[in-house]
Amino acid sequence: MQRTKWVVASMSLGLLLAATGCATDTAADRAGEADIHPKVSTVSDVANSTETTGDETHATAATQQGGSTASSSADEQTMLYNTHKPPQVYGMRKFPYPYQAMLAISSDADSETLRKFNLVHEFINTTQMTPLGRGLGLDFADSFFMYNGNNEPGYVDINHEPMADELSYFKGVSDKPYAASIINHYIHVGWIDTMHTYGDFSRVNPHQTLFTRQLAEQAIEALKANGDVITVWTDHGNKSNVDNFGNYGKSTFYSYQQGANPWSKYYHTDLTIPYGIRFVWPDSSSDEFGMKSMIYPLMLPDGQRVWGFWRYTNVGYTKKGDPEWDWTPFNLDEQLTPAHFAQIEREHEYSIVAQHLSGTNYPGVLPKSAVEALRLLAAQYHEGKILVTRTSRLLTYNVAQQYVWYDVTYGQGKAYIHIRAILDPVFGKYVPTIDEIRGLTFYTSNPAETVLEIGNTPIPAQFVQDNHSDGVHPSVAITWWPVDTTNYAETAPGVK
Ligand SMILES: [Zn+2]
Repeated sequence: MQRTKWVVASMSLGLLLAATGCATDTAADRAGEADIHPKVSTVSDVANSTETTGDETHATAATQQGGSTASSSADEQTMLYNTHKPPQVYGMRKFPYPYQAMLAISSDADSETLRKFNLVHEFINTTQMTPLGRGLGLDFADSFFMYNGNNEPGYVDINHEPMADELSYFKGVSDKPYAASIINHYIHVGWIDTMHTYGDFSRVNPHQTLFTRQLAEQAIEALKANGDVITVWTDHGNKSNVDNFGNYGKSTFYSYQQGANPWSKYYHTDLTIPYGIRFVWPDSSSDEFGMKSMIYPLMLPDGQRVWGFWRYTNVGYTKKGDPEWDWTPFNLDEQLTPAHFAQIEREHEYSIVAQHLSGTNYPGVLPKSAVEALRLLAAQYHEGKILVTRTSRLLTYNVAQQYVWYDVTYGQGKAYIHIRAILDPVFGKYVPTIDEIRGLTFYTSNPAETVLEIGNTPIPAQFVQDNHSDGVHPSVAITWWPVDTTNYAETAPGVK
């Protein structure tokens, strides 16, 4: 029954967004229905309503006002506006005002050391003077390893730092903490939000691995004990990384991915998904800088479902079909270009840019060209064009923006936007917390007289923001995350 209504809703919002210029793809259109046909109601109806669909609220109000449940929305609107002239809610703005696009940098922990991590984050996250110049004040969160089972030759940092000193939670594949306390700290303050698999298990011989299920168990136990909440997982490395998952069965290449195979001794997603991983990058390439939506449902071999997501990883493909990767700091200026920025702003797109910001032994960590590219991105953010945020926040917003279900009621000169649920097709329908709908923005003719509610409960004023017209309409929004440019950099004894 409700399913049917949601389908109707998706059609309505699709038309609406086409009209307001906020382009979305088909899947992005599943949202509230009442924005096209505002429901007539009274304040008391809204306050007393325990109904879960806009249609039911609608029927109640129509009965009271017209003595009939069959009157059309158009008649009701005419009646209402002629007598009360209340605000009118027009539908959703795709991104928080005033931004036209949203972008995250998703950087893999390969060859990370604490020295490099701190340099990168002091420059990108803070506004202090740093060795790379004035900090950019951007919201950027990194990834991390739990273990280091890598035996590849080469160095992980300047001064011939061996691979054994790559930043990881535990030392090697042991149960002895290495950078555990500092990684905990960065997870808690928001400088880390992504697990780059359980560890760096890349071997010279790709048929060998040090990964075991027991290591996954130990990792989950430690993360839980320390209150480390991680929702994003990105696959890593060569075929030794058998804990990778997400693309098994997609082609013969991906047969090394054993993490979600219940028949494998490397199976771990029965622990990893319940722990809290919701978004998985399954070692897929993409040469599309911007997309209407970054997420897609991923069915795992064990029957569990998670969100897959795309990252921009390569400029194109060779004639043989191999990706031409451009995800090192030396390529950052090929990723963060004015043309790419203009594209996602014009098309109202998301972008998740894959990188390895700590991946080189360049003494200054980021070459000049990368620093300049990041400055261009920061300018787009500070000019109100591209909302730069951490990967987990972008993905959470993507789900809410695409699958929010809301309806609108009107009464006594006010409009009430009732956010009913997130109709998440992967994890199921849920009533969101404020943090799960941060940034959702609704066009209205009068923000001051438009009330934002979760269900029928008004959202506290400190989380509500009224916006001037962006040239389309004024809007009202749930506030985005507060800006935090605190320098959280720390060092830890014995951690390189
Ligand atoms: Zn990696």
